[in-house]
Amino acid sequence: MSPSGIRAGATGLLCCVALLFLAPAVRAQDEPQPAPLPVFEFHSGFWLNLHHTLYRQARLQRSNPAAGAGVGNLSPGEQRAWSAALAFYGKNYADKDLTVGLEMILIKNQLGDFETCEDLAGLKKRTCDAGLPAKLTEVLDAAAPVYRAHLWQEQDRSNRRWIAAVAPLVRRNGLELAHRLAEIYQTNWPTERIRVDVSWFASSTGAYTTLDPIRVTVASSDPRNQGSEALEVLFHEASHGIADGVQDAIFRECRQRDKPIPRDLWHALLFYTTGEVIRPLAGQAAPAGYVPYAVREGLYKRGWENYLRVLTQYWQPYLDGRVEFSDAVAHMISAL
Ligand SMILES: [Zn+2]
Repeated sequence: MSPSGIRAGATGLLCCVALLFLAPAVRAQDEPQPAPLPVFEFHSGFWLNLHHTLYRQARLQRSNPAAGAGVGNLSPGEQRAWSAALAFYGKNYADKDLTVGLEMILIKNQLGDFETCEDLAGLKKRTCDAGLPAKLTEVLDAAAPVYRAHLWQEQDRSNRRWIAAVAPLVRRNGLELAHRLAEIYQTNWPTERIRVDVSWFASSTGAYTTLDPIRVTVASSDPRNQGSEALEVLFHEASHGIADGVQDAIFRECRQRDKPIPRDLWHALLFYTTGEVIRPLAGQAAPAGYVPYAVREGLYKRGWENYLRVLTQYWQPYLDGRVEFSDAVAHMISAL
């Protein structure tokens, strides 16, 4: 119930005038800030979004040099700064994978941590010296005003819209899902909330996760990440941080049987598991039946047909509580 609703019944001019003055203080007491979300904390950070935007545009420009700078209506000065940033990203980062190399991961994490800073060299505030390579700092600080004037507002709005849409789902189902997935992977869910950097663009896959510390980057503009599917994407990504036990068990079973390790079986298992765990919770939002991400995006049709078969046949019984973890993995490996 809202405080204004309570007061709507009050009568008499004096009372209402008094309430007008009291209103802000009363409202602050009556409407405490909503409790922080469980499991995840969401960020829409300026520098991390700029970094991903430059990375994406540099890659686009490289594959299609006629694509131009990717931002319209720039003054000559803005054009110079933006082109220089794209050239720098094209030369130094566009060939690198955002998700694998330590260099890209460290840059991304650092830009996330310094999201509230006005510049990265620490010119305005000494604690804002992000300690990044000098040339990168220079390029980002020069591109920042261009980005802020022409792209950031729209991208930040898209990120915030995405967060507002997914937050109620996390609030309702987050803890339950986290416990269930930790139980399945026979481990503990991280005690700290997992940082999720929401970025207009994230990577060609629409979302990625880096470890130590575990952080998820998810694209707010990606059509694959919308609606109730956003919840599955979040928990799939977070599962990257807690599913070591699955990889270990697959390796162990393969070694014992002298079999090659089935490429990406562990990843197919993560997709399958998150989809199955989310499915019953998505009932109301998807009355016709929830379609898990891997089915929707056709992942099982691109070389994972056998994986879907063994997952359905041998892993599903484990999810249903009918067989042990190690037996399920052993059966899958012997059947492949
Ligand atoms: Zn994944």
